[in-house]
Amino acid sequence: MESQTFKVILLGDSSVGKSSIVINFCEDTFSTSIESTIGAAYILKTINNGNKEIKLQIWDTAGQERYNSLTLLYFRSSQGAIVVYDITDKTTFERAKLWIREIREKEEQKTTIALVGNKTDLKERLVSTERGSKYAKEEDLLFFETSAKTGEGISKIFLDLIKEMPKNNVDMQKS
Ligand code: GDP
Repeated sequence: MESQTFKVILLGDSSVGKSSIVINFCEDTFSTSIESTIGAAYILKTINNGNKEIKLQIWDTAGQERYNSLTLLYFRSSQGAIVVYDITDKTTFERAKLWIREIREKEEQKTTIALVGNKTDLKERLVSTERGSKYAKEEDLLFFETSAKTGEGISKIFLDLIKEMPKNNVDMQKS
């Protein structure tokens, strides 16, 4: 079977739910006591997509290490980035924008970016869907709202990335 590997990096402030998103996607479970990420490590997830095997190398990073040179190294060679904010915390949305700006400045190949507003199960929303989707449209990003607690919207992030990322490779081969 034909196999393709994509590297996807998760970025965003600490506690927005990056680890929970990855765990929900990979294990279909939710834990309320996930230890915060120290450094970075990747999880490999294999998905059968018709007659193709897609391998996703998912890199989870520590959000507080914004200027960590290692983090930089990871996203330089990533085909996809998932930038997460917490819809109940405006600061995390502003920080997500900084991450996106940084990716666009440093990318060596086109990176498919998914902007994700997480924690939709909470009532205390402070970042509207409209605000998130408007920004995503302006910056040419995929946009999702999710709850890693209920699992709502999680698999769609990864499935849409799998659809979009190969287009970057096609563009690269052309140029
Ligand atoms: P990270 O630091 O970005 O990796 O965030 P974590 O995945 O460690 O999550 C931080 C905290 O938020 C944990 O207590 C999680 O249980 C909680 N959390 C993550 N996602 C959600 C969500 O969608 N809804 C709710 N209510 N809590 C969440």
